[in-house]
Amino acid sequence: MNTDTSAYPFEPEEHASELEAIIGAIERAPRFGERDLEHLLRRHPKDGRGFFSKSELIRGYRALRPGSAAEHAFVERVRMKPVRTRSGVAPVTVLTKPFPCPGRCIFCPSDVRMPKSYLSSEPGAQRAAEHQFDPFRQTLSRLRSFHHTGHPTDKIELIVLGGTWSSYPEAYQIWFILRCFEAMNRFSATIGPAARDPLAHFEPEVDFRELVRTVEGALLASGEAAGDDPDAHRRDYNQVVSAWTSAHPRVADQARRQIASWADLESAQQANETASARCVGLSLETRPDRLDRDEALQMRRLGATKVQIGIQSMDDEVLALNRRGHDTARTRRAIRLLRGAGFKIQAHWMPNLHGSTPDRDCEDFDRLFRDPDLRPDELKIYPCSLIESAELMAYYRRGAWRPYDRDELLDVLVHSLSATPRYCRLTRVIRDIPGTDIVTGNRTTNMRQVAEAEARDRGVVCRDIRAREIGGRPVDPGRLRMRRTDYEAGSGRETFLEFVDAEDRIAGFLRLRLPAAAGSAESRPAELAGRALIREVHVYGAVVGFGERGEGRSQHVGLGRRLIAEALKIAGDAGFERMAVISSVGTREYYRGLGFTDGELYQHRPTAPPLGESSP
Ligand code: SF4
Repeated sequence: MNTDTSAYPFEPEEHASELEAIIGAIERAPRFGERDLEHLLRRHPKDGRGFFSKSELIRGYRALRPGSAAEHAFVERVRMKPVRTRSGVAPVTVLTKPFPCPGRCIFCPSDVRMPKSYLSSEPGAQRAAEHQFDPFRQTLSRLRSFHHTGHPTDKIELIVLGGTWSSYPEAYQIWFILRCFEAMNRFSATIGPAARDPLAHFEPEVDFRELVRTVEGALLASGEAAGDDPDAHRRDYNQVVSAWTSAHPRVADQARRQIASWADLESAQQANETASARCVGLSLETRPDRLDRDEALQMRRLGATKVQIGIQSMDDEVLALNRRGHDTARTRRAIRLLRGAGFKIQAHWMPNLHGSTPDRDCEDFDRLFRDPDLRPDELKIYPCSLIESAELMAYYRRGAWRPYDRDELLDVLVHSLSATPRYCRLTRVIRDIPGTDIVTGNRTTNMRQVAEAEARDRGVVCRDIRAREIGGRPVDPGRLRMRRTDYEAGSGRETFLEFVDAEDRIAGFLRLRLPAAAGSAESRPAELAGRALIREVHVYGAVVGFGERGEGRSQHVGLGRRLIAEALKIAGDAGFERMAVISSVGTREYYRGLGFTDGELYQHRPTAPPLGESSP
């Protein structure tokens, strides 16, 4: 499935008269909605038969009105799926190549065409496979797709998924991130009527059908040889992927070329600071036992601002039963390290693991926020699903595990919704696995809405960030008030500052960390010694381009600046003379404008003088 609409053989000039009629009518209409668009498209069919898609209308507009100052207004009228970019940034998800994972988790799918834990039927994974996991192609194609469907592309959150990031070789990690940055940096030169599409005429270097054939043979052979060996399953994935790489000269040759130097990456990052598509957030995913101080610093050097970390459970017995390979002490240590280094922490937690029960899961969920060493900023709840390729299948067959029924699952989810504090964002409450891949268990894809409706029926109020996001609604800054929540976390105090309206809807927030003087030096980089730390500033409103004014949108009413000013004051009052911020490559310029100067991995500023309306 090709989702890059820029690849359509569509020449706007060949449809100029119909497009002109549609575009003119849209421009002239005092008000315009979906039904008006449907009506117009029917009146002016494409080639006298089919209908123009919205992306074709946008491409048509750009071809017929090149450089028009009214483009933004036009695109707003016909834009597709505004929800994608409503949170303030355009998310670009890219997958790493299939690679051995040190984990041996019994619930984890093993699709050797994918990085461990991903399924080739998942839409994001399909996109990655189409581009042979090439980071440049994945990033550029997604950006072009956003552009052609009318989404702004100037602020990008790069989300890197796939197995365990920390187990990929360092040179591959640098190369992968470098190529993503190069795609962002080159993006603006690849759009526009005269631009050459660098994604056209793709000659795959590696024939993945060959991989599938090899894999099928290997799986068959290992299945015959596996017997009762409980590690056979893990070996299947890791061995097949490694064997395939070493057995095929072109794959091995490709792997040898997937390297880059830190100097190359740093220069691409520097170029991105002022690029038209800037990386304002970068997320990597890993396991707790692969995180130490050096790994956290390396992630920072790559430009990461957020880490997705698989907690799965805070019950040692459940972790052991599911062969996670680490205990809860390791998880606590990893989260302390991440928090100390300023990363936003997005934890993954799994109810319905082998050995758990709905009651035990509810207790476990409460630990996530009762324990000051945890308290994640964001949470993805992934109820365990049974996938044919997971080792859990054997447990299911012999009756040692079963999926929760709908009521049990709802109980756990409603409890989770009710117990999530206002400083945490529940990013997911279900993993979006295609129903065809689920052997048994929940197949309801809108389980979140079902759980939210159930929560409402039970009188539960959800206060997590996502439930309160203001979305693309207009913001009247005069009606917002700043609300402050303080809590202890990992040898220090966290302050969650948020701008909310009268209905408690959130227009922007900031996470401030005040480390305890006596806190372990091991859990924070030397550059941060003695400093307060801004871990996140997020302001909502549909994405507004750099330099554009979005009337009433929260990104442009100075909310970020006011949050930072308050954070500086709080830190100064608490005795901190210096403030650091874990800025992303694309926000360095913004912070320089507020008086921050570049350090090695962070930016810094004195907490005094205060950040006034006009002072930097
Ligand atoms: S660590 Fe993650 S990717 Fe690796 S086996 Fe476990 S769940 Fe799967």
